Amino acid sequence: MPSTAADPRELLHRHFGHREFLEGQEEVISAIVRGEDALVIMPTGGGKSLCYQLPALAKDGITLVISPLIALMKDQVDALAAKGIPAAFINSSLTQSEIGSRLARMRSGELKIVYVAPERFKSPRFVEALRDLKIDLFALDEAHCLSQWGHDFRPDYLRLKRALVELGRPQVVALTATATPIVRDDIRVQLELGQRGRKDPRVFVTGFARPNLTLAVSQVAGKADKLRRIKEVLKEYKTGIIYCATRKNVERLYKELRAEKVRCVAYHGAFDEEKRTKAQTKFMSGDAEVAVATNAFGMGIDRSDLRFVIHYDIPGSVEAYYQEAGRAGRDGEPSRCELLFNYADVKTQEFFLDGANPTREIIEGSYAAVKRLCARGPIRTPIAKIASKVGHGRPNQMAVGTALRLLSRADAIVRSYQGSRTYTTELVEPVKDIEELGFDFDALELKRERDGEKLRRIIAYAGEAGCLHRFILDYFGDPHVKDRCGACDNCASHKVRVARPVTADDRELVRQALLAVRGADGRFGRGRISQVLAGSRSKQVLDVRLDSNPAYGALKEQGVDYAFSLLTELAQAGCLAISGDKYPVLSTTELGRAVLEGTASATVAMPDGGAPAASSVKRGATKPASARSADAGEPRNEDLFEQLRAWRFKRARKSRIPAYMIFNDATLDELARVRPSTQDELLQIKGIGPAKARKLGKEVLAMIAESGGPSAAEAPAREPEAAAPEFFREPVPSEEDIYFVADAEEEFNG
Ligand code: ADP
Repeated sequence: MPSTAADPRELLHRHFGHREFLEGQEEVISAIVRGEDALVIMPTGGGKSLCYQLPALAKDGITLVISPLIALMKDQVDALAAKGIPAAFINSSLTQSEIGSRLARMRSGELKIVYVAPERFKSPRFVEALRDLKIDLFALDEAHCLSQWGHDFRPDYLRLKRALVELGRPQVVALTATATPIVRDDIRVQLELGQRGRKDPRVFVTGFARPNLTLAVSQVAGKADKLRRIKEVLKEYKTGIIYCATRKNVERLYKELRAEKVRCVAYHGAFDEEKRTKAQTKFMSGDAEVAVATNAFGMGIDRSDLRFVIHYDIPGSVEAYYQEAGRAGRDGEPSRCELLFNYADVKTQEFFLDGANPTREIIEGSYAAVKRLCARGPIRTPIAKIASKVGHGRPNQMAVGTALRLLSRADAIVRSYQGSRTYTTELVEPVKDIEELGFDFDALELKRERDGEKLRRIIAYAGEAGCLHRFILDYFGDPHVKDRCGACDNCASHKVRVARPVTADDRELVRQALLAVRGADGRFGRGRISQVLAGSRSKQVLDVRLDSNPAYGALKEQGVDYAFSLLTELAQAGCLAISGDKYPVLSTTELGRAVLEGTASATVAMPDGGAPAASSVKRGATKPASARSADAGEPRNEDLFEQLRAWRFKRARKSRIPAYMIFNDATLDELARVRPSTQDELLQIKGIGPAKARKLGKEVLAMIAESGGPSAAEAPAREPEAAAPEFFREPVPSEEDIYFVADAEEEFNG
């Protein structure tokens, strides 16, 4: 049903029922309609599908959409059919005759958009059949699967280069949510974009900004502290996903939350199909409010009303983090993305890194072991046993699993799945020497380094003192970077603090913090030093004798969050430097040393909650900004709240932007409680920065004045803050924890 009108806006209204394009869509669509090749990098939920579905309507021929998400194809096709767009899919769920009949419908011009699974291109017959058709656009979804540097490499994608040549090099658009520059370059190379007579592709990096997401990192002492924080978040945010790095953590946390009567489901890769579907359905239908899951959960999660995504463990890269965190707030409403950071968790990711990147010795040792074990024919031996024959100490089983995969890809061995998570392994005859397998060990080493760099960047994110949104946008190379977002805990907490000369009261706190850093000898970052200051008895502190640091326990009363904020502020104030190639570590600067010696004074935005205890009452840690809910004790003026909402609606419509971009609900709520009366007071409200105060302040203040004026004077005293978290001895994750995931990897890739 080719459209006669090729005006993208008209098509947008008519077929998709949307009034406006989302950020970036219009530019991308215009380029594709003009026939240019394009590389589109947009986050999950950014509206990538429309970028090829709409141009497909403006073209005469067929648009092929290559997608690895077979499970979603039917839904996508049904959704298109519901919009009156004739579409179909071709994947392994169909019989040969069904495929044949769909090809016939393509030939007759009946189908406009056809989804195809990448493995179809293994079949020369299939490619041959496509050659007779008019393929106008080749849209490659999840294009990062092409790149060995991506997190989800699919060897089938490598066949697409040849298929494109055989199809006479149609126009190509490659789309992905998670591409760093290196993956981007790889996609260009693999698809030969800008070659074979095609112009250089247009590259769009857009839409990564998610202003409705409040980004936050909480430094936590261990599992008990994580649970405490999760309960706080659940109280306020209710619906969302908690991602864990290991299956074991999923199961443990799931039990803990069930014991707290949280309506939750668990989900990970070791569950069978039925159990997974059940968990997913329960969560999607709203029967469960919380999903506790590994990264296996998420592909195709289309629940747009998730109010939070918590990361229980640090993931392996910023891409993985943002993709998962980005599942929150897809409806545009304010939502929270919080990373619970405990340095010990990095060890899990380091283990994965080793597992995904076996050394040359492990690859050679694995091949030698398989040669010995298979000398008399195929074996049905678990990886653990093969690993025990590899030598080189106690090799990481996951690394041996990866080595076997590489050997199988090099056609040295064959591993066949036998069901029930078992494989047979056999040698390919004639048996070759390792040198004949053509391994590029330098490239493997390079990949290992790159994975290491990705991990360092997410660790840097966890320790970032500046704007977290900015960090993410910089990382992806999205040019839409603002200085400060007002929607991450770092910006929010800076906003309420003003740098001022350190008073006599605060001097000792500053001195102790500087002493702790000096005593740690430039070897540790803010997380560990704040634990030292708070007097943590955690293994990470005790194992490296940090309890003998001169400032150990000096800020026990103020707590670890306070200590962390103070270290951050001291870095901002130039008293401390954050540096380090591998992991960000703290050291004192010249100014810091002078302050310690009493020859200089510093100007510091002291965090709240730090004044030395005047009485013996133990003071609590500063809560993260969002949990601070500054005026929870004050009643909300409901009339004012409603007035503000109505005003926001009109304002948003006038400016043709979503309502949350004016102010989110939390900001309206705070306005209706605090009822500020001046521009300065307005700036104290979360979500109102100088630009918004300038632009909208007058109108808001007028509404507040009309509603009966400010309330601050009559405000009741604030609730006392929560007690400082207690520190539990927390072992670093055991290898057992991690092997749990190692067999998941094996299952997935094997
Ligand atoms: P992605 O593939 O980038 O993850 P989708 O293509 O699935 O994102 O789109 C995410 C959501 O946004 C879908 O629900 C889609 O209907 C919606 N959407 C896409 N474009 C628009 C638009 N211009 N206006 C409103 N909603 C849109």
